[in-house]
Formats: sequence, C-alpha cells, structure tokens
Amino acid sequence: MRTLFFHLFLATTLHAQTPALEQLIEVRPGTLPIILTVPHGGTLKPDNVLARRYGVTGMDANTAPLSEMIIEELESRYGGKPHAIFARLHRSMLDPNRELKEAAQGEPTAEAAWHRFHDGAKKACETVMKKHGMGLLLDIHGHRHIDQRVELGYLIKGEQLKASDTELNANAALIASTSIRDLDKRSPQSFAELVRGPQSLGGLLESRGFRCLPSPTKSYPGVLAGYFSGVYDIAAHGSRDGGTVSAIQVECPWNNVRDRPENQRRFAQALADSLGVYFEAHFGRKLR
Ligand SMILES: [Zn+2]
Repeated sequence: MRTLFFHLFLATTLHAQTPALEQLIEVRPGTLPIILTVPHGGTLKPDNVLARRYGVTGMDANTAPLSEMIIEELESRYGGKPHAIFARLHRSMLDPNRELKEAAQGEPTAEAAWHRFHDGAKKACETVMKKHGMGLLLDIHGHRHIDQRVELGYLIKGEQLKASDTELNANAALIASTSIRDLDKRSPQSFAELVRGPQSLGGLLESRGFRCLPSPTKSYPGVLAGYFSGVYDIAAHGSRDGGTVSAIQVECPWNNVRDRPENQRRFAQALADSLGVYFEAHFGRKLR
C-alpha cells in the first residue's frame, strides 16, 4: 500500500512539474559566425502553462531534427558549430517569433521563456560580432504553402519583390529596411543579386536541387501563392536596426525537405555547402 501511495505521489508531482527554463529554451554556444534560431519546433506542453488564446499555434514539424542535421553538416565542413537556440516549448504556449505580448499572452512561464530565447539570440550575435566581426542568423521554419519551395525571408514583402532588379537596387529605403542591411554594404554584388542572383542563398540552394523563392528562377511569388517574408526574429536580430549580423528566415517546405530523415539530411548538406560559397561571395571570407 505504501508503495502504491508513493507511486501515486511521484506520478502527480512529476506530472505537475514544469520543466526548467533551460529545458524550455535550449541555448547552445557555438564557434562559427552562424546562429540558428528554431522557434517553432518545440513539442513540450507542460500542464501548468496556459495555452495562448490567439495567433498561430501549429508547430513547424521536424524543424528541430532538421536543424540538428544542419549543425552536424556545418561542423563536418567548417570545423565548428553554429550557435543555436531551440524553443522546446510548443507553439501553442509560446511563439518566440512574435513580440512578447502576442508571443506569451501574459503567461509568466512563457514570458520567461521568450526572454531566454531572445537574450540567447542577442548574446550569440554579440559573441559572433566580437569574434568574427560579422555573421549570419538563420531563423528555421516550416511552411505548408501549395508551391513547395524553400522561402527565404529578408523582410521584403512579396509585392516589393515584383520590382525589377534595377528598381530594387535603386531603392535605398527598401534595402535599409531589410534584415540583410549590413550584408548588402559588404557584398560586392548588387542587392538584387544578393537576394535572387545565382549566388543568393536561393540561387545556391537551387543549384543543389532545392527550388527557392526568391531565386534566379522565381524572383517573386506568383498570384495567390503564399510567401513568408520574415517576422520578429530576423527583425530583432538581423542588421536592419544596426549591428553586423544579418538574418534570413528559412521557411522549409514539407515535401523533399522536412518529410523524411534522408531528405532532411540532403537539405542540411545543400544548405551547409551553400553557406560556404555564400560567405566567400558576400561576406568576403571563408567560413570557419
Ligand atoms: Zn514557423
């Protein structure tokens, strides 16, 4: 009887326990000038954390294992790990890719988790700037749009991408409002090339078998096609408002990228290869 009560007691206590903040938001220091943020891959739903009442609550399935593979592939090529911040708390309880009010909706544990996520990203950016002078943050997501392309977000709306290359390159106000503002100043290529040329991230991924938007083959979203241009994470941690860490939102489709481990691996390899070329072409330095 005593054992039964003990087990009941243990079961109830464990059930009610909220995981520690370090488990809800996992912050891993790295050595490369790359930061990965993974805001929507979390699966934890502690009993005593109130669910969000509005906003998008669906998770980005498989972005956590995909990001682990990206970390492995970067390490095997460039001899160091990227910094990484994983939200393990489910999106129904926290959306780190929103400002605090919508993200946590007054729930104290979610608010603390939001702060840990963004403090972690901020510190990672500072470390990268101190050590390397410049860097790149990739905010890893998953989308379910009908056109299954990798969508790369720079805080440029789909509508704005309809401009010609000449118009884009002449639009200083637009360039200054993007999450790659600093990178545009460093890159020897034009802004339009940086965003959708052969050596843009979209161009490099396409030449490795992954259709992208924007890219040389698809410079702006089609009519009725969805396109995510980036939200809070790349606005808060990219170079729009200063600093030398630029940021790109990487929205991965389900088909051929997130669906199966072998496709996740292929994409992680293509992204890691692409980043090596990207760093040399635009940052003017080898990735290591
Ligand atoms: Zn997402």
